[in-house]
Amino acid sequence: MLLKGKPVADKIKDDILQTVSDLRITGKSLPRLAILRVGERADDIAYETRILKNCDSVGIEAAVVHIDNNIDMVSFLEAIEKLNNEPNIHGILIFRPLPKQLDIEQISRAIKPEKDIDCMNPINMEKVFEGDATGILPCTPEAVMQILKHYEYDLTGKNVAIVNRSMVLGRPLSMLFLNENATVTICHSKTKDLPGVTSKADIVVAGVGKANYFGPQYFSEKAVVVDVGINFENGSLCGDVEFDSVSKQVVAITPVPGGVGTVTSMLLLNNVIKAMKLQSK
Ligand code: NAP
Repeated sequence: MLLKGKPVADKIKDDILQTVSDLRITGKSLPRLAILRVGERADDIAYETRILKNCDSVGIEAAVVHIDNNIDMVSFLEAIEKLNNEPNIHGILIFRPLPKQLDIEQISRAIKPEKDIDCMNPINMEKVFEGDATGILPCTPEAVMQILKHYEYDLTGKNVAIVNRSMVLGRPLSMLFLNENATVTICHSKTKDLPGVTSKADIVVAGVGKANYFGPQYFSEKAVVVDVGINFENGSLCGDVEFDSVSKQVVAITPVPGGVGTVTSMLLLNNVIKAMKLQSK
C-alpha cells in the first residue's frame, strides 16, 4: 500500500481554510507569518517562494523580513524582539543555517514560544518530551504521526525503529511514538547490525539523508516504512529507501516525493494557526 501524503495534507488544508473563513466572517484579523531570511542563498529563496505560495493558497498572510548577511547578533535579536512584540504577527520562521556570527542557541531561545512555528525554542521541545500538548510540535515528526494516524495504524505495542537521532527528527519523534504506547528503538550511525534491528520492527522510519540507502534486507514483509529522507540523485528527488524493490516487499510505504514532505509543508502553515490560537488565549 502506498501511504501518500496528499490526502493527509488536504485534510489539514481544509481545516486551515475553515479557520481562516471563520475569522473572515467574524471580521477578525487573519493569521500572519513573518519569515526572517538572512542573505540570498538560492535554496532559502526557493523555500521562501514555496512557503509564500502555500500561505497564499490558504489565506495566511506572510511578510518577509530580509536581513543582510553581515548582521550582528544584537541587531538580529532586536529584529526577533520586534516581531515578538508585534500583535499582528502570529508566527515567526527563521531560515537556517545562519551565518557563523549568529548564535543559533541564543536565537532559538529569543523567539517567543507562542510564535515559534518551527519548534526552535527549547521550551517547545521540552513540551514534546513531557507529552504536554500545549506547545508547538516540530513539523516533520508530527507529519510522520499524522500519516500513520490518517491511514489508521494502531501504534499501541508496536515495535518502531527510527533511524535518526537528530533534534529535528529522531529524538522528538521517539517521544510522539511513546505517547501512542509504541516501543521505540532509536538507531544511528553507530548502531550495530542495523538491518538486524530494523527487520524486527513493525514500523521503520528512515531518515539518514542518503539516497536509496535502505534495500529490502532492512525490512520484514509485514513492515510499514516511513521514508523521511530528501535526496537529489541524478537530478531527481528520492528518499532514503530503495523504493522499487522495497515497495514490492513491505505492507506499506510512503513515497518520495509525495509523502512526508507534503504533510510537513502543510503542518508548518497549521502551526501558524495553532500559534494564533495560543496567542488569543
Ligand atoms: P542529520 O542531522 O544529518 O541526521 C541524520 C541521522 O542519520 C543521524 O542521526 C545519523 O547518525 C544517522 N545516520 C547517518 N548515516 C547513517 C547510517 N549509515 N546508518 C545509520 N544511521 C545513520 O539529518 P536531519 O536533519 O535529521 O535530516 C535527515 C533526513 O531527513 C535528510 O535527508 C533531510 O533532508 C530529511 N528531512 C526531511 C524532511 C521532510 O519533511 N520530509 C524534513 C526535515 C529533514 P549519527 O547521529 O550517529 O550521526
